[in-house]
Amino acid sequence: VNRSDVHYWGAGPAPLPTAVLEKASQVLLNYKDKGIGLCEISHRSPDANEILAHAKQTLTYLLEIPDDYEILFLQSGGSGEFSATVYNLVAIWVEKKRAKIAEEVGDDKGEVLRRLRTVVDEELKLDYLVTGSWSLKASQEAARLVGAKHVNVAVDARKAGDGKFVDIPSEDKWTLTPRTSGGGPALVYFCDNETVDGVEFPAFPHSLEGDDAPLVCADMSSNFISRKVDVRKYAVIFGGAQKNIGNTGIAIVIIRKSLLPPAVTYASADLLRELNLPVGPIVLDYPTIAKNNSLYNTLPIFDVWIAGQVMAGLVNTYGAKRIGGQEDISNEKARIIYETLDKYPNVYRVVPGNAVRSRMNICFRVHGGDADKEKAFLAGAEKKGLLGLKGHRSVGGIRASNYNAVSLEGAKTLVSYLEDYANSA
Ligand code: PLP
Repeated sequence: VNRSDVHYWGAGPAPLPTAVLEKASQVLLNYKDKGIGLCEISHRSPDANEILAHAKQTLTYLLEIPDDYEILFLQSGGSGEFSATVYNLVAIWVEKKRAKIAEEVGDDKGEVLRRLRTVVDEELKLDYLVTGSWSLKASQEAARLVGAKHVNVAVDARKAGDGKFVDIPSEDKWTLTPRTSGGGPALVYFCDNETVDGVEFPAFPHSLEGDDAPLVCADMSSNFISRKVDVRKYAVIFGGAQKNIGNTGIAIVIIRKSLLPPAVTYASADLLRELNLPVGPIVLDYPTIAKNNSLYNTLPIFDVWIAGQVMAGLVNTYGAKRIGGQEDISNEKARIIYETLDKYPNVYRVVPGNAVRSRMNICFRVHGGDADKEKAFLAGAEKKGLLGLKGHRSVGGIRASNYNAVSLEGAKTLVSYLEDYANSA
């Protein structure tokens, strides 16, 4: 089977542009005519630095990332960032509290610690908006690290009865930790696009805006570089590369510089231990990664190169429209697919509510979820070269992952199959 005969709708790892893979096969063997390949050269070589700088530049251009943000590359995967956001932002929160108490009580370290223990015990909160399987996992990781009592699930969108995630409750129903002066949560976390459930935030939540806005951390693993983002609203944006940006192996973090030294001090490992709070692994420590330009340890430079090439492809295609050009195409692909699904309500049912339908992961049922009919639907799709459409094992059904490397032509091929199937059903 040829690549060109197939449209792959898998949720991640996901398709990459063929032109990038063709170039990749060359650079793996021989990079820049050096006689060795890109997986073999040092991550500290000038070439590696150039690759890293290029990836940062293209991402900065595409998303218009302001100067007061830093880009980090880590090998954490998306899941590692569930932990990293907790370790790092809790360390910032604790140090802020410690400094404030020290101001009040002076040099008496024993007293500072006593008071700090009470403050941590009573006030440390991490807010989670649980709108799907991945934010649920992130909130569970936070509870595992700092203890459930410190995790405030401000939204639990699970539907009563079947426990499915199909909607985002309106903001007036959220129970965010109040923002008091000098207080508030250590972070507010949400997953911008829930890959398993097909639920995407239509826009940045209003409740997280304003002068005293909390530190917002967002998982954009499955909708990174698919639409414009007002980066300034976020403390941390992260995502695994393996959907829209590149291949498996790296995660990208965009972090506000005011959350890195020297602008801010993190609680020391000794202090965190005294407070029974977790001390994170050094490879997830944002100050360490930032200080070392993401080269604290061996970074898979090939993966960064792939990401850089994919992003450069978008820059070449859309030019001054930046990520807006990709956003238009993503929206158009999603629009024609949803429109077709909605046209045949007796055959297809989109799982999530209208207002929160993901542009990236289009989740639907065929004939009310009849197992045999969904199997037949998938088999028919495969015959047309439409692969990877099976829904996540935890929810079943069909999922079309409409990532950037799926072309408009691919979306039209899916639409045509949806039409044919519905008309013959
Ligand atoms: N977050 C989201 C939204 C995801 O879709 C995934 C994986 O599919 C992850 C996090 C976890 O990423 P990883 O497998 O790289 O740990």
